[in-house]
Amino acid sequence: MKKKVAIISGITGQDGAYLSALLAKEHYTIIGLTRSSHNFSKKNFLYLNIDSEIIIEECDLLDFSSIIKILIKYKPDEFYNLAAQSSVGVSFEQPIGTLNYNTQSVLNILESVRLLQLETKIYQASSSEMFGKVSTLPVDEHTPFHPLSPYAISKASGFWIGVNYRESYKVFCVNGILFNHESYLRSPNFFVKKVIRTSLEIKKGFKNELRVGNIDVKRDFGYAPDYVKAMWLSLQQDKPDDYLICSGTSIYLREIINYTFDYLNIVKTKLVEDPKLFRPTEMNDMYGDNSKAKSVLGWDYNQSFFSVLDILIEEEDKNFKI
Ligand code: NDP
Repeated sequence: MKKKVAIISGITGQDGAYLSALLAKEHYTIIGLTRSSHNFSKKNFLYLNIDSEIIIEECDLLDFSSIIKILIKYKPDEFYNLAAQSSVGVSFEQPIGTLNYNTQSVLNILESVRLLQLETKIYQASSSEMFGKVSTLPVDEHTPFHPLSPYAISKASGFWIGVNYRESYKVFCVNGILFNHESYLRSPNFFVKKVIRTSLEIKKGFKNELRVGNIDVKRDFGYAPDYVKAMWLSLQQDKPDDYLICSGTSIYLREIINYTFDYLNIVKTKLVEDPKLFRPTEMNDMYGDNSKAKSVLGWDYNQSFFSVLDILIEEEDKNFKI
């Protein structure tokens, strides 16, 4: 049987690496796009032992011609668009760059597939941040968006571009609305990774404190290797649709710190709450209803985030280097 071809943009990130590992097991030819093939980091591929499975191509998603060339070269069955400026915090510092990149890139991919009349199935990485200010929880696929950050606005725009190409041009585009998902490969500027990494540094005597912003907010957290499975399942369907991928429950950021400190026997006085790190606007609580993904995609997820934290702390400790 002919091997399926998948293109993954943002392949060097957390989800790109875990999705590649999954697609490698499913015997895909995997083409990974990166902004710079000279400077890109292979560390996630090496960690998951998948370096030899990936063909890397340099492709600036803001450059329409580059995408067209890649699509003509590979005529992919599936295109997972994971590339993005993915940090809410950074988006407050770089609102214009975040909005430009995260919307123009989506439009370029969809327009290229449309003009080339390809049958490529597209996965667009949407985010729970799009919901923002909500009046009822849990949110589901019908909850309106009220984004509270430049990142969230950019992802909401990308979402609607996907819906519009699906409805207007019959392009197969799925929006996976993922909630926070974590792993050892998470970038160090994200909350859970920062808490675990800094706690280990405190424990081993390299740091004296963990400095955080507002930790009295709740989020729905899950485990990245399980969440990428839902991305893949969503493109194995006959019809494109939108799916919420989440654990279905939220916990306080403070609980994550308390759990990690207790696990590593760190005294609570090492925690410093710094109002300077508070964000201009913030969602107080957010959790979703994953029943559609479970029933339609057959996606299975029942992990408590505390059991995920056990895995993450152990893995970080085992691989700890200063
Ligand atoms: P990462 O930040 O780990 O990876 C994103 C990749 O995008 C980077 O490795 C980078 O690769 C590429 N990229 C392209 N343009 C930019 C840019 N302007 N700034 C920074 N990176 C850029 O993201 P994740 O793997 O965690 O997430 C994958 C996708 O899912 C993203 O679109 C994210 O917004 C979305 N998402 C993630 C969630 C999560 O909890 N992880 C939750 C909801 C949505 P390179 O430098 O090689 O080009």
